Amino acid sequence: MKKLNCAFYTVPPTMKRYLRGKMRDHKLTIYDGQLDSENLDPNTEVLGVFVDSKVDKKIFKSLKKLKLVVTTSTGYDHVDLKEAKKRKIPVCNVPAYGENTVAQYALTFVLSLTRKFYRSIKRVKNGFYNYDGLEGIDLKDKTIGIIGTGHIGMHLVDMLEGFDSNIIGYDKFPNRQLEKEHNFSYTSLDKLLKTSDIISLHVPLFPETYHMISKKEIKKMKKGVYIINTARGGLIDPEALLWGLNNGHVAGAGLDVLEEEDLIAHQEKLLEKNITSEQLKMTQVNEMIVEHENTIVTPHNAFNSAGALKRIISTTADNIKSYTAGEAQNDVTKPRKK
Ligand code: NAD
Repeated sequence: MKKLNCAFYTVPPTMKRYLRGKMRDHKLTIYDGQLDSENLDPNTEVLGVFVDSKVDKKIFKSLKKLKLVVTTSTGYDHVDLKEAKKRKIPVCNVPAYGENTVAQYALTFVLSLTRKFYRSIKRVKNGFYNYDGLEGIDLKDKTIGIIGTGHIGMHLVDMLEGFDSNIIGYDKFPNRQLEKEHNFSYTSLDKLLKTSDIISLHVPLFPETYHMISKKEIKKMKKGVYIINTARGGLIDPEALLWGLNNGHVAGAGLDVLEEEDLIAHQEKLLEKNITSEQLKMTQVNEMIVEHENTIVTPHNAFNSAGALKRIISTTADNIKSYTAGEAQNDVTKPRKK
């Protein structure tokens, strides 16, 4: 088997050794941080990226020897699939490494928001030992709406079952088995928005799901709703969310993802010439969301558990192996097998 030149970006420090072990059959270079025009290697045949690296037309054009893209994530909205298809370059993801990991993280948001846990901790650390204004709500008898009942949403349904809540869901492709096996039922998106006390998002970011939660949807929601997003920032219009938080219609938001989160992570990019006024505005709105007293924002961290990281690296190595054996598995440029 021919050794392939593999370039990996944004590999967690604890996983570098594990990745090297898995990639012994190839020539592997691990770059610190995300992919950009400065650290491209024109000899790259296999490109390994995380969600913080945009693999756009320019990257495809620059990497003339590129044969395969592997993303160490479930979501693949950071890769230009149209361009990949045009060039017949498979793009492999990790479809199921951390359904329990991310569902557990979403559950952490549910519990933390509804009991004002984050504010309670801050209060005591600041030297005030009292519970004034820290009243929360019970999950018992509350309605929890899950948007997207794939791997992660389904696990969240499973985890929530012990709380005596009314769990409802919306999905473009409902999983009827889930309804049979759990105390759970599907409903329309409209009804979910109107009746849920807590809403958790678990759909991928596609053009059709971009800003699926905007002002119109927030207006439909119950006053005092809690919104949780561990999927992708682009699902929620940040201006609409801030509007809902400021007028109290939204009681709290738990967000592990933000639209244009890269500009929060790398603020130096705001000084670059190609930054648009929309991006600047969105960054300001994001900052107001981060600082809002009723939000918990974490840095795209839901996937980040020791077990999940190992599963991600292992599947990514298997994706490369399958490619060298003749057919890439988990190739998202191919129609999805149901
Ligand atoms: P999945 O593909 O198993 O499930 C997605 C579900 O969404 C499917 O059931 C699908 O039918 C449904 N869906 C697709 N389009 C829809 C639409 N327009 N309307 C309603 N439902 C629709 O994916 P998953 O493993 O559950 O992951 C969900 C998302 O979570 C990923 O796409 C990814 O963006 C995100 N994620 C985030 C992290 C993190 O660290 N924060 C980690 C893993 C995954």
